Amino acid sequence: MDNEKKCSLCGEPLSRYGNKKIMDGVLCRNCIKPASPWLSDEAYLKLSLEDFKGHLAYREENKKELEEFKDSKKVEGKYVLYLDEEGRKFALSKRKDYKKDNADVFTFDQIKEISIYEEKYGDTEDLDVFFDMKLDNKQIDDVLFRVNEFPGLIRDSEEHKNAVDLALGYLEAFEEEEGIDFEQVEGE
Ligand SMILES: [Zn+2]
Repeated sequence: MDNEKKCSLCGEPLSRYGNKKIMDGVLCRNCIKPASPWLSDEAYLKLSLEDFKGHLAYREENKKELEEFKDSKKVEGKYVLYLDEEGRKFALSKRKDYKKDNADVFTFDQIKEISIYEEKYGDTEDLDVFFDMKLDNKQIDDVLFRVNEFPGLIRDSEEHKNAVDLALGYLEAFEEEEGIDFEQVEGE
């Protein structure tokens, strides 16, 4: 019996791509669908099967959180940032309907650190712009994404400037809110 070829959660045979390794097994593409998009491969590796079940329960709870979520401010981009200023919460989504997308709801108080940085794209001189938030959240402790839609921006091009402006726009949206206490790291 080759257990490695089966999903640890549903027991279905694994497909060639889209599986995720966890601490004590492998999850199939279908089982990870409802999981948060902010779980990195490294984060998966730190999860046991029981942890992952807990994560899925959290994702169900998140749907209820979203019912209460009232977006009062948004910053448009590849990811749209939604702020519920009264509830002091936020969510980020790539999809048109962030509620349908079950975008993770975080509170302003969970933000520990925000950094904006650039990285060279492969072996080229081109750049990517990243936005990284460290969070004090049991399920997701890092929200990290490339701000530019397509990788590899020519330095000082219009697209490059737009990506930097967008990253700063996300940052400013949080800075404008009263009493969020986070560290800001730039140009890592
Ligand atoms: Zn599965």
